[in-house]
Amino acid sequence: MRKIVIAGNWKMNKTVAESVKLATDVVAAAQGIRSVVVIIAPTYLALAKVAEVVQGSNVKLAAQDVHWENQGAFTGKVSADMLKEIGVEYVIIGHSEQRTYFGETDATVNKKVRKVQSLDMTPIICIGETLAERKDGRLESVLTTQVNGAYEGLAADDALRTIIAYEPVWAIGTGVTASDDEAQQAHAFVRSLLAIRYGEDVAQSISIQYGGSMKPENAAGLLAQTDIDGGLIGGAALKADSFLGIVTPGESISK
Ligand code: PEP
Repeated sequence: MRKIVIAGNWKMNKTVAESVKLATDVVAAAQGIRSVVVIIAPTYLALAKVAEVVQGSNVKLAAQDVHWENQGAFTGKVSADMLKEIGVEYVIIGHSEQRTYFGETDATVNKKVRKVQSLDMTPIICIGETLAERKDGRLESVLTTQVNGAYEGLAADDALRTIIAYEPVWAIGTGVTASDDEAQQAHAFVRSLLAIRYGEDVAQSISIQYGGSMKPENAAGLLAQTDIDGGLIGGAALKADSFLGIVTPGESISK
């Protein structure tokens, strides 16, 4: 059985004080949530304070990125050990904004995944095509390259300790959501790639989130799709009520 995992990616939003407030609101609102795994990903700066807020609750903590080295001359970067020390359990890796603006490649995604797993944290591996790639008929080749790059050298046991976020780049922050069918087709394709690498049983056990303008109005339809196991949420995660409006429909779904 796969878990429904809903993660809020706060991106470069909220001061530390605002993050503590939002985390407090999410913890309160998520008190009755039983089956959905609820995750929030504040900025690096707010992680330590938010860790205190979520301690003992059913809300988990994620970082938005990580470096693959332990320490050293990497100005501006944060290591996996540092994240682990303050209670981070999940790390978003390969987000399209990292790929577009900060030179993230499939090779660096792979290094980060391995590093995070070596410390028993769970990577949320982001993949997805641009609009131009989709229009050129390159959806499947782009996803194939990204999945194979991210999972290079990972054994089946490691693959089972990952989450994928399929995020069509054209849907992120645009208000344009993939239709239920478009999203389902892409998710089924991603799962088929996992099945080729690791076999059907492993592929059926890995949660694949959808990301891209997901909101309370479209969450139930997307989450009802066979291969959609949650969401990675940007804009709608910046308020506790809209975030929980996405989490709550997940409670009645099992995969
Ligand atoms: C994201 O940042 O991963 C994302 C899906 O953003 P939004 O929900 O705002 O489209």
